[in-house]
Amino acid sequence: HRMISQNNRVGFGGINSGGKIPLELKRKGLRIVVTGGAGFVGSHLVDRLIARGDSVIVVDNFFTGRKENVHHHFSNPRFELIRHDVVEPLLLEVDQIYHLACPASPVHYKHNPTNVVGTLNMLGLAKRVGAKFLLTSTSEVYGDPLQHPQVETYWGNVNPIGVRSCYDEGKRTAETLTMDYHRGAGVEVRIARIFNTYGPRMCIDDGRVVSNFVAQALRKEPLTVYGDGKQTRSFQFVSDLVEGLMRLMEGEHVGPFNLGNPGEFTMLELAQVVQETIDPNAKIEFRPNTEDDPHKRKPDISKAKELLGWEPKIPLRKGLPMMVSDFRQRIFGDHKEDGT
Ligand code: NAD
Ligand code: UDP
Ligand code: UDP
Repeated sequence: HRMISQNNRVGFGGINSGGKIPLELKRKGLRIVVTGGAGFVGSHLVDRLIARGDSVIVVDNFFTGRKENVHHHFSNPRFELIRHDVVEPLLLEVDQIYHLACPASPVHYKHNPTNVVGTLNMLGLAKRVGAKFLLTSTSEVYGDPLQHPQVETYWGNVNPIGVRSCYDEGKRTAETLTMDYHRGAGVEVRIARIFNTYGPRMCIDDGRVVSNFVAQALRKEPLTVYGDGKQTRSFQFVSDLVEGLMRLMEGEHVGPFNLGNPGEFTMLELAQVVQETIDPNAKIEFRPNTEDDPHKRKPDISKAKELLGWEPKIPLRKGLPMMVSDFRQRIFGDHKEDGT
């Protein structure tokens, strides 16, 4: 294996340009690995990186991801797809690592060591080749927060032995490992704490609320509201998140940074927006809530605004229709909503 560090790359560009390299030139030829790149967020990130001119290696075990999410890049020589579980070591030579691989929804994440062992391996890889490493952490590190909205300096309120703790504590451990590799081994790292995100290519049946409601409304099934529906979440459209992740990677700051849309909705309000968007006659059905469900969640994004110059652009009522047309196509093929 050829070892290439970021410094080599920058130095190489610098020889011909007197030390000052135009950003686009420096980027040309960047090799970037996106773990979890066949998933929902990852595949949108891959689209942007490929469009920017980078070479992208997607590493995914297809646990929840799908080849269909990236198949439009298959004929591109700058794109490569590796079926691999990041819990196993991996040898690659790259400049940047976007580490997204993770079983990311309640029905998938239990009993899985990806967050800890997978993150350790990708940090080991970053250390060996001198790559920049970005961790996609989560608002779940705040647990059932006692501070509202959540600021990055808040340490959270997490049950270490609950049904969600594999995810919450797994991501908290991933953040710890990331900071340890930064301080101990000098790895250049970035941490994003992502708040609830939705959009095209989201898993249809992984149980998250936006995908559930949209699929239910399209299939003429009742929208399942858990608990009293007064708990809140703040929903971010996927393109806003991808912009934030790229700014974070390219910027100077380690983070952690909250990346989310501060527009806060109760689950009942969300159900109403879905009714307005898809079917005003859609029924609502109440179900018992899950254990340890956070009551409120809303990001304070002042830090990302100030240091990354980033804020979300797409409100729920604008983003939802874009997701609905994708879901309609995936659920009904080329047919219309009523199956005709
Ligand atoms: P997703 O399930 O669509 O994508 C995760 C991808 O990781 C999938 O393609 C899956 O196959 C892959 N994967 C899982 N375990 C793996 C393993 N061991 N080895 C290799 N690949 C593996 O989920 P997403 O919503 O795109 O989430 C991407 C990242 O963003 C995750 O780290 C998640 O924790 C984080 N995040 C997402 C949200 C959100 O609302 N979507 C919120 C907070 C954090
Ligand atoms: N690792 C990897 N790819 C690499 C370098 C390391 O997957 O290119 C894995 C390695 O197998 C180990 C982990 O990353 O399990 C941590 O590596 P590190 O070198 O930091 O730790 P060590 O191997 O010294 O314990
Ligand atoms: N939820 C709901 N109906 C559903 C799925 C989820 O009311 O069909 C609720 C869930 O109880 C939680 C909120 O929606 O309060 C967000 O759940 P999700 O799993 O999407 O995200 P997370 O809890 O991880 O923020």
